[in-house]
Amino acid sequence: MSKYICAVCGYNELNYPQWDKHGFPTHEICNCCGFESGFDDDAKDIPESIEEYRIRWLSEGANWFSSSKTKPLNWNLAIQLKRINVDISK
Ligand SMILES: [Zn+2]
Repeated sequence: MSKYICAVCGYNELNYPQWDKHGFPTHEICNCCGFESGFDDDAKDIPESIEEYRIRWLSEGANWFSSSKTKPLNWNLAIQLKRINVDISK
């Protein structure tokens, strides 16, 4: 089964895409940042809300969201964010 990348944090183990091919949110919740498409934002048409969520999540310490899925041992926030072209080293 293929995996999908979170538009907010770059986590690449999502089981479903956050938006379907028509652009409708699937309510997939990211285990990493907790972002839920269709709930925490209204659509990928509003990229600001994705960025706002990311900024807030990062400012709160980028805490691992899921209690059922444990954080990967080799989890690296900076590398993960680079997947979605977000550089936090600056
Ligand atoms: Zn995420």
